[in-house]
Amino acid sequence: MKVGVLALQGDFIEHVHILQTLGAQAVEVRKPEQLGDLDGLIIPGGESTTFGKLAAEFGLIEPLRAFCASGKPVWGTCAGMIFLAKDVGRNQPVLGLMDVKVKRNAFGRQVDSFEQDLDIPALTTAGNGASRPFHAIFIRAPLLESVGKGVEVLAKLDDGTIVAARQGNLLATSFHPELTPDMRFHKYFLECVGKG
Ligand code: GLN
Repeated sequence: MKVGVLALQGDFIEHVHILQTLGAQAVEVRKPEQLGDLDGLIIPGGESTTFGKLAAEFGLIEPLRAFCASGKPVWGTCAGMIFLAKDVGRNQPVLGLMDVKVKRNAFGRQVDSFEQDLDIPALTTAGNGASRPFHAIFIRAPLLESVGKGVEVLAKLDDGTIVAARQGNLLATSFHPELTPDMRFHKYFLECVGKG
Protein backbone atom coordinates (compact mmCIF):
# COMPACT_ATOMS: atom_id res chain seq x y z
CA MET A 1 0.00 0.00 0.00
CA LYS A 2 1.38 3.37 -1.00
CA VAL A 3 0.07 6.30 1.03
CA GLY A 4 0.99 9.93 0.48
CA VAL A 5 1.31 12.56 3.17
CA LEU A 6 0.98 16.14 1.99
CA ALA A 7 4.33 17.61 3.01
CA LEU A 8 4.05 21.33 2.29
CA GLN A 9 4.12 22.32 5.97
CA GLY A 10 3.08 20.99 9.36
CA ASP A 11 3.57 17.67 11.15
CA PHE A 12 3.72 15.38 8.11
CA ILE A 13 6.77 13.43 9.34
CA GLU A 14 4.88 11.99 12.32
CA HIS A 15 2.29 10.52 9.94
CA VAL A 16 5.06 9.14 7.71
CA HIS A 17 6.66 7.35 10.67
CA ILE A 18 3.40 5.75 11.81
CA LEU A 19 2.52 4.63 8.28
CA GLN A 20 5.96 3.04 7.97
CA THR A 21 5.61 1.35 11.37
CA LEU A 22 2.33 -0.14 10.15
CA GLY A 23 4.04 -1.50 7.04
CA ALA A 24 2.71 0.95 4.46
CA GLN A 25 4.93 2.72 1.96
CA ALA A 26 4.78 6.43 2.83
CA VAL A 27 5.49 9.20 0.34
CA GLU A 28 6.00 12.88 1.17
CA VAL A 29 3.90 14.67 -1.43
CA ARG A 30 4.96 18.08 -2.74
CA LYS A 31 4.30 17.78 -6.48
CA PRO A 32 1.13 16.96 -8.44
CA GLU A 33 2.77 14.07 -10.31
CA GLN A 34 3.42 12.28 -7.01
CA LEU A 35 -0.32 11.75 -6.55
CA GLY A 36 -0.54 9.47 -9.57
CA ASP A 37 0.12 6.06 -8.03
CA LEU A 38 -1.02 6.62 -4.45
CA ASP A 39 -3.68 4.46 -2.79
CA GLY A 40 -4.55 7.07 -0.16
CA LEU A 41 -3.50 10.45 1.17
CA ILE A 42 -3.13 12.15 4.55
CA ILE A 43 -3.29 15.92 4.95
CA PRO A 44 -1.57 16.67 8.27
CA GLY A 45 -1.91 19.32 10.94
CA GLY A 46 -0.22 22.65 10.49
CA GLU A 47 -1.65 25.96 9.33
CA SER A 48 -4.49 25.71 6.84
CA THR A 49 -3.94 29.18 5.37
CA THR A 50 -0.34 28.21 4.62
CA PHE A 51 -1.49 24.93 3.03
CA GLY A 52 -3.80 26.93 0.77
CA LYS A 53 -1.09 29.34 -0.23
CA LEU A 54 1.57 26.70 -0.89
CA ALA A 55 -0.81 24.24 -2.58
CA ALA A 56 -1.86 27.00 -4.99
CA GLU A 57 1.79 27.93 -5.62
CA PHE A 58 2.77 24.29 -6.26
CA GLY A 59 -0.19 23.74 -8.62
CA LEU A 60 -1.68 21.20 -6.25
CA ILE A 61 -5.23 22.45 -5.66
CA GLU A 62 -6.91 20.88 -8.70
CA PRO A 63 -4.83 17.67 -8.62
CA LEU A 64 -5.71 17.25 -4.93
CA ARG A 65 -9.41 17.80 -5.71
CA ALA A 66 -9.19 15.23 -8.49
CA PHE A 67 -7.48 12.76 -6.15
CA CYS A 68 -10.27 13.17 -3.57
CA ALA A 69 -12.90 12.80 -6.31
CA SER A 70 -11.29 9.54 -7.45
CA GLY A 71 -12.72 7.90 -4.33
CA LYS A 72 -9.38 6.99 -2.79
CA PRO A 73 -9.29 7.52 0.98
CA VAL A 74 -8.11 10.95 2.15
CA TRP A 75 -7.72 11.85 5.82
CA GLY A 76 -7.28 15.39 7.13
CA THR A 77 -6.08 15.98 10.69
CA CYS A 78 -6.69 19.41 12.23
CA ALA A 79 -5.51 21.91 9.58
CA GLY A 80 -5.98 19.02 7.13
CA MET A 81 -9.63 18.82 8.18
CA ILE A 82 -10.04 22.55 7.55
CA PHE A 83 -8.43 22.13 4.15
CA LEU A 84 -10.98 19.44 3.17
CA ALA A 85 -14.05 21.36 4.36
CA LYS A 86 -16.62 23.09 2.19
CA ASP A 87 -17.36 25.83 4.69
CA VAL A 88 -14.64 27.35 6.87
CA GLY A 89 -16.57 30.49 7.74
CA ARG A 90 -14.16 32.79 5.96
CA ASN A 91 -12.52 33.29 2.63
CA GLN A 92 -9.34 31.21 2.41
CA PRO A 93 -8.25 28.74 -0.26
CA VAL A 94 -9.35 25.21 0.64
CA LEU A 95 -10.21 22.07 -1.30
CA GLY A 96 -13.85 22.58 -0.31
CA LEU A 97 -14.98 18.96 -0.69
CA MET A 98 -16.34 17.69 2.58
CA ASP A 99 -19.89 18.73 3.42
CA VAL A 100 -19.08 20.15 6.84
CA LYS A 101 -18.94 23.55 8.47
CA VAL A 102 -15.70 24.07 10.34
CA LYS A 103 -14.92 26.60 13.03
CA ARG A 104 -11.21 27.31 13.11
CA ASN A 105 -9.33 27.86 16.37
CA ALA A 106 -12.58 26.97 18.08
CA PHE A 107 -11.15 26.24 21.52
CA GLY A 108 -9.04 29.37 21.81
CA ARG A 109 -5.38 30.06 21.30
CA GLN A 110 -2.31 27.81 21.32
CA VAL A 111 -2.18 27.93 25.15
CA ASP A 112 -5.76 26.60 25.27
CA SER A 113 -4.69 23.36 23.59
CA PHE A 114 -5.85 20.28 25.50
CA GLU A 115 -5.98 16.51 25.60
CA GLN A 116 -9.05 14.34 26.11
CA ASP A 117 -10.06 10.68 26.00
CA LEU A 118 -12.70 9.96 23.37
CA ASP A 119 -14.97 7.04 22.63
CA ILE A 120 -14.63 6.22 18.95
CA PRO A 121 -16.81 3.22 18.07
CA ALA A 122 -15.54 3.15 14.46
CA LEU A 123 -12.14 2.06 15.73
CA THR A 124 -13.62 -1.32 16.70
CA THR A 125 -13.06 -2.42 13.10
CA ALA A 126 -9.37 -1.64 13.51
CA GLY A 127 -9.11 -4.15 16.38
CA ASN A 128 -6.45 -3.78 19.01
CA GLY A 129 -8.31 -3.05 22.22
CA ALA A 130 -11.24 -1.34 20.59
CA SER A 131 -13.15 -0.53 23.73
CA ARG A 132 -10.28 1.55 25.11
CA PRO A 133 -10.84 5.29 24.76
CA PHE A 134 -8.65 7.12 22.28
CA HIS A 135 -6.41 9.77 23.82
CA ALA A 136 -6.90 12.80 21.56
CA ILE A 137 -4.61 15.84 21.39
CA PHE A 138 -6.19 19.14 20.32
CA ILE A 139 -3.78 21.92 19.29
CA ARG A 140 -5.42 25.22 18.41
CA ALA A 141 -7.99 22.89 16.96
CA PRO A 142 -11.03 23.40 14.77
CA LEU A 143 -14.42 21.84 15.50
CA LEU A 144 -17.24 20.75 13.24
CA GLU A 145 -20.18 23.12 13.74
CA SER A 146 -22.43 21.09 11.49
CA VAL A 147 -22.22 18.19 9.07
CA GLY A 148 -24.26 17.45 5.95
CA LYS A 149 -26.60 14.49 5.45
CA GLY A 150 -24.03 12.17 3.92
CA VAL A 151 -21.55 12.71 6.73
CA GLU A 152 -21.13 10.19 9.53
CA VAL A 153 -20.05 11.55 12.91
CA LEU A 154 -17.22 9.43 14.34
CA ALA A 155 -16.43 11.21 17.60
CA LYS A 156 -17.79 13.89 19.89
CA LEU A 157 -16.61 15.61 23.05
CA ASP A 158 -18.76 15.13 26.18
CA ASP A 159 -20.64 18.35 25.40
CA GLY A 160 -21.64 17.07 21.95
CA THR A 161 -19.03 18.97 19.95
CA ILE A 162 -18.23 17.00 16.79
CA VAL A 163 -14.50 16.32 16.42
CA ALA A 164 -14.27 13.50 13.87
CA ALA A 165 -16.36 12.64 10.83
CA ARG A 166 -16.39 10.67 7.61
CA GLN A 167 -18.02 11.30 4.27
CA GLY A 168 -17.41 8.31 2.04
CA ASN A 169 -13.69 8.29 1.25
CA LEU A 170 -13.06 11.52 3.17
CA LEU A 171 -12.10 11.32 6.83
CA ALA A 172 -11.51 14.27 9.16
CA THR A 173 -10.34 14.67 12.75
CA SER A 174 -9.98 17.88 14.76
CA PHE A 175 -7.24 16.23 16.77
CA HIS A 176 -3.82 14.69 16.07
CA PRO A 177 -3.64 10.85 16.22
CA GLU A 178 -0.13 11.13 14.75
CA LEU A 179 1.12 12.66 18.02
CA THR A 180 0.23 9.73 20.27
CA PRO A 181 1.67 6.19 20.34
CA ASP A 182 -1.86 4.81 19.77
CA MET A 183 -1.92 3.80 16.10
CA ARG A 184 -5.56 2.65 15.95
CA PHE A 185 -6.73 5.62 13.89
CA HIS A 186 -3.99 5.06 11.33
CA LYS A 187 -4.93 1.36 11.22
CA TYR A 188 -8.54 2.34 10.63
CA PHE A 189 -7.45 4.61 7.78
CA LEU A 190 -5.23 1.92 6.26
CA GLU A 191 -8.18 -0.49 6.36
CA CYS A 192 -10.16 2.06 4.33
CA VAL A 193 -7.21 2.32 1.93
CA GLY A 194 -7.04 -1.48 1.67
CA LYS A 195 -10.73 -1.65 0.74
CA GLY A 196 -10.31 1.45 -1.45
N1 GLN B 1 -5.17 26.51 13.83
C1 GLN B 1 -4.69 25.85 12.64
C2 GLN B 1 -5.46 26.31 11.42
O1 GLN B 1 -6.39 27.02 11.52
C3 GLN B 1 -4.80 24.34 12.80
C4 GLN B 1 -3.92 23.87 13.92
C5 GLN B 1 -3.40 22.47 13.78
O2 GLN B 1 -3.35 21.88 12.69
N2 GLN B 1 -2.91 21.95 14.88
O3 GLN B 1 -5.12 25.97 10.33
